[in-house]
Amino acid sequence: MQETYDRIWREVASGIRPHLNAEAYQRWFAAIDLVQADECALTLQVPNSIYQFWIESNYLNVVRSAVIAVLGSPREIKFRATDRGLTGSVLDVHAQGTSEPVAPVSPAARAEDLESVISHGMNPLKNFAAFVVGSNNQFAHAAALAVSQSPAKTYNPLFIYGGVGLGKTHLMQAIGQQTVQRRKIQKVTYLSSERFINEFIDAIQQNMLVRFRKRYRQTDVLLIDDIHFLAGKERSQEEFFHTFNTLFDGRKQIVLSSDRPPSEIANLEQRLVSRLESGLTTELQPPDTETRLAILRKKAEAFHLELAEDVLAFLAQRVRTNVRRLEGALLRVVSYQSLSGREVSREALEQLLKDILREEAKKMVTIEQIQKKVAEHFEVGLADITGKRRTANIVYPRQVAMYLSRRHTKASLQQIGETFGGRDHGTVLHACKTLSGRMKREDLVRQTIENLDTQLSR
Ligand code: ADP
Ligand code: MG
Repeated sequence: MQETYDRIWREVASGIRPHLNAEAYQRWFAAIDLVQADECALTLQVPNSIYQFWIESNYLNVVRSAVIAVLGSPREIKFRATDRGLTGSVLDVHAQGTSEPVAPVSPAARAEDLESVISHGMNPLKNFAAFVVGSNNQFAHAAALAVSQSPAKTYNPLFIYGGVGLGKTHLMQAIGQQTVQRRKIQKVTYLSSERFINEFIDAIQQNMLVRFRKRYRQTDVLLIDDIHFLAGKERSQEEFFHTFNTLFDGRKQIVLSSDRPPSEIANLEQRLVSRLESGLTTELQPPDTETRLAILRKKAEAFHLELAEDVLAFLAQRVRTNVRRLEGALLRVVSYQSLSGREVSREALEQLLKDILREEAKKMVTIEQIQKKVAEHFEVGLADITGKRRTANIVYPRQVAMYLSRRHTKASLQQIGETFGGRDHGTVLHACKTLSGRMKREDLVRQTIENLDTQLSR
């Protein structure tokens, strides 16, 4: 029997290999054995739970597709950890420490669900059960849930925006997979806007536009991730606009995500902006400390990763801006612990997470720093920026500083207004709108902002 298993695994593995770089393949897949296989599931023996954590988080789709290619139908992928100690190979986890581990909730999905999920490129682990709700994301979460419960009946389109690593893709895929399971829904399509653009270009080149259109205009739920990549791509926007209208008029659900609200996406046609704004727009904010701790606990618990409370607290305290980074930090600490066989000390922790902590420090820009930087740039006094004068040479820098404060800090419009000489939130909102408008029309303004942007992110 084991011989058969070995043969199957060799074939599956050779289907996996082309999708990974040689190093990653060697690190994560070389030490795996297939120890059980039946009609429903395959059990992979891994050296320890970190392998499971990492493979489930990053390579599950690849493994599943390879299994389908070899066996002709999907299987649930299970793991058994031998815990025969870690091989040195995991040491190198640093290199990948900030990519995408995710909470594990193994859905007992129906076989056909599984197949459609895979073919749509969604990660089965990114479901609602694995999503931790906090004050930062509760509205987005509630809206996502409502949409997946009654597609096209509540919020359409649903537009989710927020910074990197805050759960946009997770929520989109949760909606996608929840709706796949609904009997009435025929077809769910999830893709990134980059793929939409690439396929569109291919379709034009190969004279296959009809097929392309059919594919995306005949779907019940269309989820397009990272729509901001459409910026400046006029023909793709045009195509997307028509796709949008066809689906919308046909009462089909549309869900979109972006790193910023529609009105702030540069070079997006106004008619498209209004379409995007016509449903519900909801923001994902960075999680607060409690939510970060809850996310860490959930992931640690699910993988039976043992970590001291003060280590979790340290991570939650120090890695604030990005959940993906938080997961990377968690994995790194766990790897270190299992390798060294002891709990990590505070000093070791600082050392181990040096680069992550440095990245975090970068992001913590204060409004005062922004005001100072802007004042320097425009050669006006700091007091002018926060003062009452309304001459043109002051008003513009002030608006720039407000706009940048909105982008680089978590302060509310109200709070920003207060630090600008007690102005109200409407003034700040007006400044932000004026500037995003001008950025679209005036290259110089856009360049100035981009310039200051990079200086502030350093
Ligand atoms: P984005 O698409 O916004 O860049 P992702 O959806 O890819 O971010 O999220 C980054 C990682 O953080 C993913 O592994 C995701 O599962 C995890 N994540 C983000 N928010 C949450 C949350 N609220 N609960 C659990 N995991 C989360
Ligand atoms: Mg994403």
